[in-house]
Amino acid sequence: VVILGIETSCDETSASVIRDGNEILSNVVSSQIEIHKRFGGVVPEVASRRHVENVNDVVEEALTQAGMTIDDLSAVGVTYGPGLVGALLVGVSWAKALCWAKSIPMIGVQHIAGHIYANFLSGGMEPPLLALVVSGGHTEIVHMPAHGEFEFLGRTRDDAAGEAYDKVARAMGLPYPGGPQIDRLALEGNPEAYAFPRAWIDDESMDFSFSGLKSAVLNTMHNAEQRGEPWKQEDISASFQAAVVEVLVEKTVRAVRKTGVNNVVVAGGVAANRGLRAALAKRAEEVGFSVHFPTFDLCTDNAAMIAAAAFPMYEKGRFHDLDLNAIASLSLTKWADTPTIQFM
Ligand code: ATP
Ligand code: MG
Ligand code: FE
Repeated sequence: VVILGIETSCDETSASVIRDGNEILSNVVSSQIEIHKRFGGVVPEVASRRHVENVNDVVEEALTQAGMTIDDLSAVGVTYGPGLVGALLVGVSWAKALCWAKSIPMIGVQHIAGHIYANFLSGGMEPPLLALVVSGGHTEIVHMPAHGEFEFLGRTRDDAAGEAYDKVARAMGLPYPGGPQIDRLALEGNPEAYAFPRAWIDDESMDFSFSGLKSAVLNTMHNAEQRGEPWKQEDISASFQAAVVEVLVEKTVRAVRKTGVNNVVVAGGVAANRGLRAALAKRAEEVGFSVHFPTFDLCTDNAAMIAAAAFPMYEKGRFHDLDLNAIASLSLTKWADTPTIQFM
């Protein structure tokens, strides 16, 4: 089974060809980061236009690298939400045109499900599992009892983890996206230089809150500047990261204890964070559960993860009709409810 994945939900135009759910034949990611950097974040209209300009070349390149033509494809998996609606529509329209022209099935994929399925690209992964989702726009703990089935155990009440990284980085004058910069600086700093707050919410909760932490970091820098005292990017980064990581790790441990599901995968851009990877691996060993991270290049947006998520749907024969629309706020738990068709 050869699936073409297409991802255009935000600022990466990506296409990938994968075989049998986890063999990556190609994964082409054309990032717009350089374009959006000067605005300090993603500009939706600019992103859509860029996707339109890029999508043909990116798909063609993915097919060429895989040594395939469109005649070799079994199906197309495409992100249809959540994301910027104008950006999503570029991928969805492209997928529809190809599937219609070639009479092959189309599978609409929920983007966060894609991030979770990035873990399946390493092979040997099977539900039931818990997913710690830590991306630019989402932070949640998800129970996944079976393929395509998701249940929320906890979620952020304000900022996402990646968003907190990006906002703190911006306040420190670091370029967008700030997560990787803070990760790098944190290695050189003292994580105990500042006692930043951890939002536990209550003893049981698996919800998150990062806006108080973000404010505390901003206030610390502001107050130091007012007093004419220096602050070091390295120490702010290390102390901020320690606060984020501790909460993410301990709430994941709670979820394992509460559900008895002891297979954890981490998903989304912040899964690339070296502090999080080390701390969670250590706690998993202590507590006795297994933890899996995608390879670094598969943590942030890419189409291989979208094709990987499409694969089990292909096997179940759950395809979307060509009237599929982009849905800017598509929820993970609603994905499975989207009406699907029996193909042909
Ligand atoms: P979503 O998937 O929720 O729609 P998104 O697609 O914009 O959001 P991702 O591609 O999953 O987000 O991840 C991008 C985010 O990951 C950014 O916020 C970025 O700063 C963060 N990030 C990337 N690498 C690291 C890292 N090493 N440490 C911390 N954060 C990181
Ligand atoms: Mg991105
Ligand atoms: Fe993403």
